[in-house]
Amino acid sequence: MESVLPWMQEHLLAVVAILITIVLVYHYLIEKETGAKLSKRYRNSIFEAQSKIFLNATQYLISGNKDLAIKEFLSAVDINRETIETYFALGGLFRSNGEIEKAISIHRSLIARESISESHRLRALKELAVDFDKGGFVDKAIETYRDVLKINRDQTEVIQALCRIYEDTEDWDQAYNCRIMLSKVGQQNQAETISHILVQKAKQHFEKGDFKKCEEDLEDAFRFAPSVSAKILRLKLFLVSGDLEQGKFLLLEILKEHPMYASFIFVSIAEDFKTNNEELKKSYQARLEVLRKYFLEMDDKDLISSASVVLSKVRLLKEQGMSGEAFDILKGWMDNNKNSSEVMKVEYIKLLIELQKKDEALEQTKGLLQNLHQTLAKHYCRQCGYNSDSLFWRCPQCHEWETIQFRWKV
Ligand SMILES: [Zn+2]
Repeated sequence: MESVLPWMQEHLLAVVAILITIVLVYHYLIEKETGAKLSKRYRNSIFEAQSKIFLNATQYLISGNKDLAIKEFLSAVDINRETIETYFALGGLFRSNGEIEKAISIHRSLIARESISESHRLRALKELAVDFDKGGFVDKAIETYRDVLKINRDQTEVIQALCRIYEDTEDWDQAYNCRIMLSKVGQQNQAETISHILVQKAKQHFEKGDFKKCEEDLEDAFRFAPSVSAKILRLKLFLVSGDLEQGKFLLLEILKEHPMYASFIFVSIAEDFKTNNEELKKSYQARLEVLRKYFLEMDDKDLISSASVVLSKVRLLKEQGMSGEAFDILKGWMDNNKNSSEVMKVEYIKLLIELQKKDEALEQTKGLLQNLHQTLAKHYCRQCGYNSDSLFWRCPQCHEWETIQFRWKV
């Protein structure tokens, strides 16, 4: 199966052309049976010309010559203007060849035809929307996809396309509506994604300093699913309101569920928020400090055995110039984990150098260099492999939600 799929994609046009040829032959035979209006001789000549053209076109497609294939298909349209599948094939060919405007004019001409059936008209409208979408005409794509939905709401692919556009453009209100639509047409569980979208909405309010609206959207987010991003934002709201006991409790909960997010939690809650309220900024910083201290003193058994948690503690301590304490924690961990990862070893060596423990630094470096594999990025997508320095809840490349994986940068 795995090798068939890429091949199909590679030769999609050829496959389409062959299918069309088969359909035409089929129609020819059916018409022959029922005795269509055209005289037999005329029909035969059309069929012969068409088969020749489709065979030529198929040949061109197989050899990868899309331009010549399109020419052949165009002449087929001249021969029999009622062959609607030919138009669709042609539109698809133009689009995949990057000739969006030609594809658009073909699909528009189909929609405008009087003789066309409603199902074909809907299909042409859908194709037109995809043309706009692929051509980067976002507004027109949205409008046309919506026109399709007005005719028939039960169009999963169309709703998915709209979701993608709204999420790309960070229009979270519309993205939310689309995901709700998607769950109504039976697309499997959207709760986690909807939660993320509502958190994005809530974040915008947070940045503006509108904490009340932020809280409301966040409540909604939790109603759908308690996603990590929702919990981190709630933690920030606790720091705003000064509810430190709840904040500590929540921090512990997130760390126990997702220890790998340890470092990110602190990066995220330390981000500046846009408010002119200097008083609030100050008290936020002070509360953040209390939370940091609470984290550094955490001695929960599960947590201190997590490499991510240890590394986060070490880095926080180093930021505060407490390299001695950082070293103690890391050394304790290294002693218990003989086969620790390269990143832990590098961090350890850095501390050894900083603390002037030259001999041990040299010894450790030797061991490390013998089997060092360079790692390039801190974050990557488990679905498509997209690499990034910054954190993403939705992968910018494959658009999946929460596929992020961590790899510590050396
Ligand atoms: Zn991805």
